[in-house]
Amino acid sequence: MEHTIAAISTSTMSSGGISIVRMSGKDAIEIADKVFVSKKNIRLSEVESHTVHYGSITDRNGNIIDEVLAVVMRAPNTYTREDVVEIDCHGGILVTRKVLEALIGAGASPAEPGEFTKRAFLNGRIDLSQAEAVIDVINSKNEYALKSSVSQLDGKLSEKIKEIREMILNHVAYIEAALDDPEHISLDNYVQNILNDVDKCVESVNKLLKTSDNGRIMRDGIRTVILGKTNAGKSSLLNALAREERAIVTDIEGTTRDVLEEQINLGGITLNLTDTAGIRNTDDYVESIGVEKAKKYAQEADLIIFVVDSSRPLDKNDEEIISLIKDKKVLVLLNKSDMKREISREDLSRLERFKTVSVSAKNETGLEELEQAIKEMFFEGKISFNEEIYITNVRHKNLLSEALDSLNMVKSGIELQMSEDFLTIDLMTAYEKLGMIIGEEVEDDLADRIFSKFCMGK
Ligand code: GDP
Repeated sequence: MEHTIAAISTSTMSSGGISIVRMSGKDAIEIADKVFVSKKNIRLSEVESHTVHYGSITDRNGNIIDEVLAVVMRAPNTYTREDVVEIDCHGGILVTRKVLEALIGAGASPAEPGEFTKRAFLNGRIDLSQAEAVIDVINSKNEYALKSSVSQLDGKLSEKIKEIREMILNHVAYIEAALDDPEHISLDNYVQNILNDVDKCVESVNKLLKTSDNGRIMRDGIRTVILGKTNAGKSSLLNALAREERAIVTDIEGTTRDVLEEQINLGGITLNLTDTAGIRNTDDYVESIGVEKAKKYAQEADLIIFVVDSSRPLDKNDEEIISLIKDKKVLVLLNKSDMKREISREDLSRLERFKTVSVSAKNETGLEELEQAIKEMFFEGKISFNEEIYITNVRHKNLLSEALDSLNMVKSGIELQMSEDFLTIDLMTAYEKLGMIIGEEVEDDLADRIFSKFCMGK
């Protein structure tokens, strides 16, 4: 990489105690020396790697901009594998900008969004799926999403992909060797070996693909709709959830004015609640949003929370909702558990095909059970990160599906007794598709597209 880049690496949205301006490239240390004046009169080009130095940054005229710490890290043990200098300055937006300007004035170029991570990728420190994990770590909305991204960053997904690819490549190599040298290498009965391994690959890819639904949910949240007749306790439930000690609530303006989405982060899972404005502001939710809209919400939702007033028998409004939701993932909340239960046994048994939890929105009891029930419905009760890898990225999911298609083509090729060299075509396609996940087979502009999603300074 020719030029040395610089950017503000901490948030530029607000002032904080300190900010970090980072530089990477072969001239990073030399450039820093032009604007950094050490208190001890030392030059950064003479210090040891991975050391911190106290001094100030001066402008062109020698005026002090700020008192700073300079961290010198020499290649290759750095984020980008290039020489890196970080300047810790005071956190004001103006002062941070001036420090950056001083570095640019001394010869650095402003970095593109994601350019530091792109260099880490291009210099071979991380692969593409790990680079994508960096974005995901930054954007993680909840604890599980964060854990999953960190595990991907650590290379768990890459390892798995490499393992599958190696299995495929071995066969391609063997077949090609045998075709080149049929006298010494035999292909007799070899297809059985291919079939065994392709079955293993199909199983692994399928296993990864299966996690992608939960992966999306983990990363972006569970699209949730709360349904229930008037006075069942929907808005009380919302308020109770929002007050939960472990819940963090954010309002998100929807694309249309009448849809207000609210996000509740509940003990590590994120619920994206649709149209809570309707719940909070109207007496009759289903009626106010209209049955058609309720139907649409129900169809699009990952989870429907059906609030039932258990102190009264079910009525035709409940029936109507039950018919709307019969094929969906539903959690029935038998609300008002503090009052005498008046739902008939018969009705209860009709609700039993859904998962049910007793709660009292008023007394805020049963909410932990609610949280646990949701975890069971979406993550089989637990999310373990020891072995499990979650596919949280749509690009990875699509490539896995394409690899799976090719592997299945290999299988049907074997069934049709196609020749081995024909099988290698589909084997190679699967190999390449999987390679694209980790960036071994990068399409020209793909890396650029991925890195442009980054924030500045990363
Ligand atoms: P919504 O129309 O479904 O949003 O229902 P609300 O949340 O407005 O509640 C309707 C009424 O039921 C209010 O008077 C609430 O105080 C009451 N309510 C809600 N949840 C409970 C509960 O768990 N126990 C009792 N006893 N009353 C509740």
